[in-house]
Formats: sequence, structure tokens, C-alpha cells
Amino acid sequence: MGPTGRPFPDLPEPKPLSSHGPATIIAMCNQKGGVGKTTTTINLGAALAEAGRRVLLVDFDPQGSLSVGLGVNPHTLELSVYNVLLGRDTGVDEIITDTGVDGMDLLPSNIDLSAAEVQLVSEVARETILGRVLAPLRAEYDFILIDCAPSLGLLTINALTAADQVIMPLECEFFALRGIALLTDTIEKVQDRLNPNLEVLGILGTMYDPRTLHSREVLERVVQAFGDDVFHTVIRRTVKFPETTVAGEPITTYATTSPGAKAYRTLAREVMARCRVG
Ligand code: ADP
Ligand code: MG
Repeated sequence: MGPTGRPFPDLPEPKPLSSHGPATIIAMCNQKGGVGKTTTTINLGAALAEAGRRVLLVDFDPQGSLSVGLGVNPHTLELSVYNVLLGRDTGVDEIITDTGVDGMDLLPSNIDLSAAEVQLVSEVARETILGRVLAPLRAEYDFILIDCAPSLGLLTINALTAADQVIMPLECEFFALRGIALLTDTIEKVQDRLNPNLEVLGILGTMYDPRTLHSREVLERVVQAFGDDVFHTVIRRTVKFPETTVAGEPITTYATTSPGAKAYRTLAREVMARCRVG
């Protein structure tokens, strides 16, 4: 039995790939902050790269936490995702940088992106701008993961319009389910009006503490409410994750045999199986 009270499925070992693309685009989305969006983007990305997939991470939060978590100082960036969204003469290739992880690249962001939220309002086809930036990159990558800001504003709408799939991280804490109705509602509107192909790939329980009854009860309620939409993999609460942010690297390299690293490797298998590209 897995932590979600369902039998844990057999997840096939990912097959090596001889060529790459077209990428599946996944938005990491929850308008609540501090639920593990950025941590999941970095570590799921690193685990997919470890499995031989080519991965692009898109920092789509003006806070730049994803960039920081990979050791990039957002304050020193001259160009960021902002410039490809709203600049006419910046190519995306100029902005994509390596990460310390083989096979994983980063489209970084910084505080400039907060201006985009306002400036996009007056653009033509303002909801589809990120999608058009990412479309030509699909050929080079197997997965493109977009780390969304904690809001349901125009940036997040752009991410949902660009994406094929959404992952919703949900902390196993009081009030975790609050706000999910609003997020689901937003996803449905995007499906209706902008992106009929968008699917919910899964809900990911994060910050789970199996020693507390409370954490177990929250997870149980989430499974009752969302059934098989909930990933079998659950991410436990551990100080290793905040430590990796300071180290500027994913847990898969920082603490390669830790339970947290193993959990994200299992999640990567589940994601590949659900996307039917593994
Ligand atoms: P979000 O992007 O949704 O705001 P983060 O991924 O930045 O959330 O996580 C918020 C904080 O919680 C960060 O300091 C991060 O290091 C920490 N964190 C994330 N996942 C875990 C976990 N499983 N256990 C303990 N701390 C975590
Ligand atoms: Mg974040």
C-alpha cells in the first residue's frame, strides 16, 4: 500500500531515448505560495534529466526562486524571460542557460517579469505570448516545465495556455484544499477559451509528515476529493529541501541517495507513465 492508501503501481524503468522531442509542456501551478512548486520544478526536472530526458525549466515567477535554486543570481541577469516575452529583438537562445545538471537548461527570470504582468495587458493575443515563445523549443526537449508565480494573473494564464499538462502541488497542511476550487475553475476557463488540449496531469502531495495524524488526514481527504488525479508519489517534509536551495542544486545531486531524491525519481517515472512518453 502506498502513502495515499492505494496500491502503489509498478512504474516501468524509463527507456533510453535515441532522439529528443517533441516536448510535453507542464505548468506547475497553485496560486498559494510555499506549496512546493519551485522545489518540484527543479527536482522533477533533474530526475527527468537523470533518466536521459532533455529538460527545459522556465522560471515564470518574478521572484526568480527557480533561478536562485539553480545557483543563478537573478539580480545580475541582463536578459531574462521578460525580454523574450516583450522584447522584439531578443532570441530565446540568447537567454537559455545551462544548469549544473546534464541535459537540463534554464530560461531564467527576475523582477523585470513583474512589469510584464501589467505590460502584457495591452498586447495583442496577450494570453498566448509564452506559448509562441516555447513552440519552436519543443523540438529540442522532451519536457518543458514552467514554474508559475503564486497568482492566477496573466502570467499564469500564459503558462496554462502554453501547457499540455498541469501539476498542482498541494501541501499536506490545514487549508490546503482552500483555493483549489478557484484554481480548477481557472483551468476550466482556460480549457474552454484558450487551450482545449490542457489536461490535469496530477495533484502532488508535498510537505507530508507521516508521523502526524493531521498530515495523514489531509492526504486522505485529498484522495477522497480527487481520486486517481492524485499522484501515488508523495513528497515528505524534510530540511534537505531548504538546504538544496542554499546549495543551488537539485536534491538528486545534493543528496543523491536521500528519500527526497528517491521520491522525485519515482515522481519522474509516474509523470512519464502518465504522459505516455516514458
Ligand atoms: P512555492 O514555489 O510553491 O512557493 P517552494 O518550492 O519555494 O514553494 O517551497 C517553499 C519553501 O518550502 C522553500 O523554502 C522550500 O525549500 C521548502 N520546501 C519545499 N518542499 C519541501 C519539503 N518537501 N519539505 C520541507 N521543505 C520544503
Ligand atoms: Mg515558487
